[in-house]
Parts: sequence; C-alpha cells; structure tokens
Amino acid sequence: MRVLIVEDERKIARALDKALRQEKYAVDLSFDGTDGFAMASVIEYDLIILDRMLPGDYDGISMTKKLRETGIKTPILMLTALSSIKNKTEGLDAGADDYLTKPFALEELLARARALLRRPKETTEAVLQVGDLTLDPATHQVQRAEQNIELTNKEFSLLEYLMRNSGRALSKDQIITHVWNYDSDILPNNVEVYVKFLREKIDRPFVEKSQPLLKTIRGFGYKLEAN
Ligand code: CA
Repeated sequence: MRVLIVEDERKIARALDKALRQEKYAVDLSFDGTDGFAMASVIEYDLIILDRMLPGDYDGISMTKKLRETGIKTPILMLTALSSIKNKTEGLDAGADDYLTKPFALEELLARARALLRRPKETTEAVLQVGDLTLDPATHQVQRAEQNIELTNKEFSLLEYLMRNSGRALSKDQIITHVWNYDSDILPNNVEVYVKFLREKIDRPFVEKSQPLLKTIRGFGYKLEAN
C-alpha cells in the first residue's frame, strides 16, 4: 500500500518514513503544503499522513478541504500539535478521517494507519483472507493451508495490495502505483517478475491440494481470487 507523508519537521518525517517502510508500505515524503498537495492530487495514494501546520500554499486543513472538493477520497490521518477540542474537530470537519496529537507513539500511528487502510473496504477484518491464504498486516505473517510463507518486503507489499483488492482485475500500472514509491524505477515487466516470485511461494507449493489463487489476465494484469 502506498502512503504519502506531508510533514515539515524533517526529524518526524524521517522517523515516520522509516517506520512505515518497515511495515512494508511504499512511502513518499513531502516537506511542505505546495509540493504535498501536488503529489496528493496526481498520485492515487492509499493513505495520506498530513501535518496540520505546514509552510507553502496549503496547511493541513486547507489541503484536506481542497482534496475533498476535488473528489479525492484517500483516507487522511492528520497530525496536530494542538490538542484543544476545537482544533481536533476542525481537522475532522475539513474531511480528515482521523487525527493524532503530537507527541504520539509510533505504534499508535501504525495501528491507526492499518485501521484507515481497511476502512473504505467492506471488510473490517484485521487479517486479510482469500481462500485458504491469510495475511496479517500487523504481524506480517502470511500463511496458506496453515503453513507459514516467507516473503520479501516487496512480495509482501504486492500480496497485501492484491488481497485488499481480491476479485478485482488489476492492471500492471495500478499495481505499480500502489506498491512502489516515487523513487522506484519500476517497469511493467518488473511487475511480471515479482508476480512470478509470488506465485512460486503462494500457489506452486499448494498445487496438488488447491487451485491457484493468482491469475493472469492476458494483456491487462492480474487478479487474486479463490475459486
Ligand atoms: Ca508542522
């Protein structure tokens, strides 16, 4: 899943970047409201972590309002140094989905990020499941038929995105947008390679007992679904 952090305090921004990467998200960083708004408008993020007080054309409140006006529904977690009731409600009224008051514990931010990532979906289950395949975004445990599967960070990110969108045909471009960040030089052909690695781990060892879950849609992309 792909996350944008807009935070001008570089120390906080870098700490968040590191923590979210450890959670296997693709992360982009922005340090001001002008640049942050441009990125949030153009790239289809799964979550935006937005500081309230920012230099540039937009602060957190005005950026949230503007994004919502232009129809962008990406979940927004607002960070605020101001803890008065008025300041909290201002962020939520502007269209943010949640807020955290600084200073906060990284663990709490990560838990709220997980909650926001599952919010727009019909399922509110914390552990993702497709057929006999499960993925726990909190512990990073992946299992099929109750056997543990070891994945690299990128394989895990790819599988998480496919599982959150199970039953939907996903193009290679969509996959790139949600699994890799701005700095990656990733091409559609590289997606094929990662899908191949993933198949070797989630489908191939189970071929005798179960149908493959990861399907190729010729000339388009991929779909993960149980039969
Ligand atoms: Ca700030």
